[in-house]
Amino acid sequence: MSFDALNLHPHILKSIAEAGYTEATPIQAQAIPEAMAGHDLMASAQTGTGKTAAFILPALQRLTEPSLVKSRGPRILVLTPTRELANQVNEAAWKYGKNLRVKTVCILGGMPYPLQNKLLSQPVDILVATPGRLIDHLERGRIDFSRLEMLILDEADRMLDMGFIDDVEKIAAATPASRQTLLFSATLDGVVGNLAQRLLKQPKTIQVAAQQAKHENIEQRLHFVDDMAHKNKLLQHIITDVEVKQAIVFTATKRDADQLAEDLFAQGHAAAALHGDMNQSARNRTLTKMKRGQIRVLVATDVAARGIDVSGISHVINFDLPKFAEDYVHRIGRTGRAGASGIAVSFASPKDGLHLKRIERFTGHNITPHVIVGLEPKRTQRPSGPKPAPKGGFAKRHNAGGAPRTGEQRTFRNNDARPAGSYNKQGGKDTRRTFADRGR
Ligand code: ADP
Ligand code: MG
Repeated sequence: MSFDALNLHPHILKSIAEAGYTEATPIQAQAIPEAMAGHDLMASAQTGTGKTAAFILPALQRLTEPSLVKSRGPRILVLTPTRELANQVNEAAWKYGKNLRVKTVCILGGMPYPLQNKLLSQPVDILVATPGRLIDHLERGRIDFSRLEMLILDEADRMLDMGFIDDVEKIAAATPASRQTLLFSATLDGVVGNLAQRLLKQPKTIQVAAQQAKHENIEQRLHFVDDMAHKNKLLQHIITDVEVKQAIVFTATKRDADQLAEDLFAQGHAAAALHGDMNQSARNRTLTKMKRGQIRVLVATDVAARGIDVSGISHVINFDLPKFAEDYVHRIGRTGRAGASGIAVSFASPKDGLHLKRIERFTGHNITPHVIVGLEPKRTQRPSGPKPAPKGGFAKRHNAGGAPRTGEQRTFRNNDARPAGSYNKQGGKDTRRTFADRGR
């Protein structure tokens, strides 16, 4: 859809054209008219689909009309989970708003207070902030929300993951009830949905289909691991299987990729590394060998493996879980190419609880745990839902014999129904709060 059809102010259209955009992305085409009509919004779409403009453009449109309230406080407030994101939003506000007279202020943790106090004492149109620091200023009475018209929550799910829920609610409570609220998130279910129910008024819901719908031909498996030695043994076991035609093993760092590729090579596997520190011709050589089948196990980092399209890849192994949930989707998409089926295996160590939770929330389903006989994990790591599992429930009925069996299929759609301690019969201690509370 062309931006011209969106009834935006000519000055906004001019900066969009100057940014080189010709067409609105699907999330923009759907969200902008609803937001301009004054509705609250719950919107979700994948990373990189242009969500920033989807909320900044209607916000800027509001600023083309004068405020009805006499005050110097912000008319638009954008909350983001991290400083980097706040800076991106700030830049976007500048880019799309440069032909309007818009004053944007960024309030982030780690910056000196005196400067922020000064910025806040001047007239502000758009305030972009991380919740923690904003609360500080709010509690000191330095922020005047009397003319606030729009509250925008960007990456709401990540804000909640980072433990900002109380801050977000407190900030929202300090703004006028008449405000318009836009919530953007990778997913809209679970806690995000609950938050939306409290903060939004009759919101319109916009969901642009996520990429996971394309991954139905990929079987996703989860292995809980105790430590590095356990990971290595599992990896050995898995790649030795003749079912593995070719595999990509993902590590967190370039050094780990090199090291692991060397180790696997030394163990007799046709393995090689692929990462961003290699020069382009070395990377191309490795990819060519992969395509010819001369390499069976490629050990790679996220950036280097983006977009690799090799039809022989039957397995993707997340030796380390990705830092960002969307990278999980990019990674597993390296297998199951061109209609083939594929298997994506993820290792989750005790410290990966939060990452696992994010991935599962992002893809909208929980990855099925698998256990290899003789290589069972010692501990349960998956963070569970808020309520303890009922005694004698699922776990007992289906798993009375001890550790789960290899290949056992379990998909827990609802956190509440997920049994605690079902992979671990030793004590069955409830570890759920450890992960849920982290980052507060
Ligand atoms: P998201 O928040 O959904 O992850 P961003 O808002 O950061 O995505 O946008 C991703 C990239 O797409 C940015 O570089 C942005 O400049 C660009 N972009 C946004 N909207 C458009 C558009 N309509 N046409 C072309 N590029 C766009
Ligand atoms: Mg974004």
